[in-house]
Amino acid sequence: MSMVSVARMPLNRALIFLGPPGAGKGTQSKRVAQRYGVPHLSTGDMLRDAIGRGTPLGQIVRPIMERGDLVPDDLVMKMVEERLSEPDFSKGFVFDGFPRTLPQAEQLDRILERKGFGKPVVIDFQVDDGELLRRLSGRWTCSVGGEIYNVNDAPPKVPGVCDADGGALVQRPDDRPEVVKERLAAYQRQTKPLADYYRRQGLLDTVNAAASVEDVGRALGEIFRRAEGRDGHL
Ligand SMILES: [Zn+2]
Repeated sequence: MSMVSVARMPLNRALIFLGPPGAGKGTQSKRVAQRYGVPHLSTGDMLRDAIGRGTPLGQIVRPIMERGDLVPDDLVMKMVEERLSEPDFSKGFVFDGFPRTLPQAEQLDRILERKGFGKPVVIDFQVDDGELLRRLSGRWTCSVGGEIYNVNDAPPKVPGVCDADGGALVQRPDDRPEVVKERLAAYQRQTKPLADYYRRQGLLDTVNAAASVEDVGRALGEIFRRAEGRDGHL
């Protein structure tokens, strides 16, 4: 499926997808990463993986994430910088849900500059809280393959069982309604200022993330074409 109708070309930069949990950043950013053959970096997935494996980092962040709080900047940045040092990042990459705070964004700018990347393309996924609550509190995740279902919009064929691999579906602690509300509040408090930070630099584009997956994909394609026109390559 082709959602970005530009010719395939080197990325050579970071794409940053901003937006509250449940806005659809994960789906779109994975598609774009696949389209350009570059890594998809979700700090949320990396942290959950650390928790699942019981690493020292995982043990520190587990209670923080279960409360719905944001993980401290120093822990996230250490994890990201280690990951960015791996060779598969040389051609560009897609960030999903990172950076989350102004200090993270400023530190990321320094890392990108040091590594010789151009300015990132930043896309803000906009959608209202009522729709987000509906999406998130219906979300169940496969305990084997990580596939995501939604009891309202995209239920599995058999309740509680993954279509792809038969894994048990579980509701992540941070998708429970009371935690979802706290996650949205934390987003408003700490991540909203990022949109202003990137807008001031002329790097911010927005999409209406309440639209369908296909329509959001098309809107992203238009943004990438405009970005390419700005400086000759995406
Ligand atoms: Zn599965």
